[in-house]
Parts: sequence; structure tokens; C-alpha cells
Amino acid sequence: MLLEKFLEQGCLKEEEFKELLDQFDQGSLTREALLTLTKKAVALRECYYGKKVYTRGLIEFTNYCKNNCYYCGIQAKNSNVTRYRLSMEEILSCCESGYDLGFRTFVLQGGEDPYYTKERMTEIIKEIRCRYPDCAITLSVGEKDHDTYAAWKEAGADRYLLRHETADEAHYRKLHPEGMTFEHRKACLYDLKSLGYQVGAGFMVGSPYQTNKSLAKDLLFLKELKPDMVGIGPFISHHDTCFKDMPNGTAEKTVFLLSVIRVLLPNVLLPATTALGTVDPQGREKGIKAGANVVMPNLSPVAVRKQYELYDSKICTGEEAAECRGCLERRIASTGYEMVSMRGDVAKR
Ligand code: SAM
Repeated sequence: MLLEKFLEQGCLKEEEFKELLDQFDQGSLTREALLTLTKKAVALRECYYGKKVYTRGLIEFTNYCKNNCYYCGIQAKNSNVTRYRLSMEEILSCCESGYDLGFRTFVLQGGEDPYYTKERMTEIIKEIRCRYPDCAITLSVGEKDHDTYAAWKEAGADRYLLRHETADEAHYRKLHPEGMTFEHRKACLYDLKSLGYQVGAGFMVGSPYQTNKSLAKDLLFLKELKPDMVGIGPFISHHDTCFKDMPNGTAEKTVFLLSVIRVLLPNVLLPATTALGTVDPQGREKGIKAGANVVMPNLSPVAVRKQYELYDSKICTGEEAAECRGCLERRIASTGYEMVSMRGDVAKR
């Protein structure tokens, strides 16, 4: 009943989303109903993106971070992490091998590392922009001020990933220390939008203390923000954090939410994440078959891969970029979709 209403209207009220998610958890949505949702999600995805799966070359260029998000393995307090930073040359070398492998989007992701100042990042972005005019540059380095975001846009960055983590203020408090607020995260997202970035928000599924009410708020926040990208993946505990004994999020609920998000925001760029592939060996394939249309293989040098350990048992930390791409290409082909070598911008609605 509620699912039918959602499929018809493309949105629900907070209380209704909560109830729909409760029904999912209780197993009271029939197989037939779930299949109808998947079919709708897949039809929408194919309407905007056909059978194409876009790839992003992920460069995890620093694991230094000044923050202490309770869930994250590379938080500042974790003294067991061997910290690294990639030099400009190393980043450019990742781009070079990525370009040769067919990547046309580079994602520079890292902790909030004060070493990469506005000026230093500007230099890196300009150099990549100059060498690869046909590629998109995506940044994912956390919360900065308007000036900094503006300078990086001006230097040639196209997209910015900043998961909102949770749109429920009380839940936000349980995941982050004093000084980090949903309000500020949200303001950053609107800032980025106003500067003309293609913006990505998102959240973890099954993060500690998450309720279906918080997830309902997440869905309504996404509807309000209208991001170009939404990154969701299961929460996975990390042995050095205070959440080490908390249960992981499930692939099933993540896949369900991927379909829900595709219906909510039909043209959105939606990755099947590494975390999804970590909790379930077939997770990324399941994500693609549920409405996701992006994958983000790792381009970082193998020598540092294991040090960018946000959570335990992260997959793809031992493979060279070429291997990683080849493996994903085969996995995607097995789903009936095709990995393509394109920038892969968001489709117009
Ligand atoms: N520092 C940037 C930021 O804050 O947006 C980007 C890097 S941050 C490590 C990237 C994402 O990793 C976060 O937005 C978070 O959702 C995810 N993440 C961190 N710890 C995780 C965990 N234990 N399980 C699953 N995802 C996690």
C-alpha cells in the first residue's frame, strides 16, 4: 500500500517513509512488492543512463585527518594508523595510469588534512585540469569555507562529494564529537551547489543509533537538496574505534535504499560502493541491478591502500588499478550492464 503510493508519487511524508522502512525490516513487504520497486528503479535508471555504468578513478591521497568522527578508522585520534600523503607527482601518476585505463573522472578523496591548504589544492587541481581537459575532477575533502570551495571551482574542479552522514540532528551528535554539526555540513552542501559544483550527499546504512526515523529524514533531506550524486554504503565497524562492537549495516537494506533513492531522484548518479562490496561479495552487482549506475575503483598506489582503512576488511586493497578495473568490468558485464569510458555527468531531467 505505502510502497504503491511511493511508486506513484515518487515521495512520501516522513512518517510514511519510516513505516515503509519498518515494513522492510519486519519482512512484511512481499517479494512481489520488492520486485515492483526494483523494476521501477531499473526502468528509471535505464531511461536516463541506458545500460551504461560510469567509472570514477578514486585517488585516496591523504589519510591524515583533523576530525574524530566516531565511526571512522582514520580519525585523528587513531594512533595505530600509519599516516601518508601523496605528492603532486604521485597524484599525477595515478591520473596518468587512470587515464590510460579509460577513466575520465578522477576523485581526489582524503581526510580533512590541513596540509592541503586552499593554495596547495588549487595547484593540484590546476595541473590535473591542464593535463586532462576532457576529464571531470571530483573533490571529497570535507568541510571548507566558501572562499576555498570557490577557488577550487575556479581552478577546474567539477564535482564535490560530501556525505551529509545523517539529517537527524540527534543522530548526528551520536556519530560526531562536539564542534561538528549537521547544520554546518548542510550549509557546505548548499554553498557547493550555489558555486555550480555537481554535488554528492549521502549516508551510511545501519550506522550506530540510526533509526528508520533518521533514515526517513535522510530521504527527505535528499529530496530537498536535490543532489546530483548520492553515495550510500553500509556502516562497517573499525576495530580501533568506539563503535568496534557495533553491528554492520546490511547489503539487503542498502540495496533496498538504492532502489528507493533511484525512484526519489530518478536522474541521480548513484554508486554501488566498495563498502557494499565488502559486506557482500556480490554487493556491487546487486547494487547495479537495483538502480545504481556508478562504480569507483581505486587508483591509489597499492603501497598506501591498506592505510586508507575507514573500516575493517575493506576490499580491493591489494590490487593494481588495472586489475581492479578489469575485475569490475567483468562483474558489471555479468549484470547485463556495460562499464564505459566517459566523464559521466549527471543526466538532465
Ligand atoms: N573527509 C571527507 C569527508 O568527511 O567527507 C572524505 C573522506 S570520509 C573518510 C568518506 C566517507 O567514508 C564518509 O563520508 C563516511 O560516510 C564513510 N565512512 C567512514 N567511516 C566508515 C565506516 N566505518 N563504515 C562505512 N563508511 C564509512
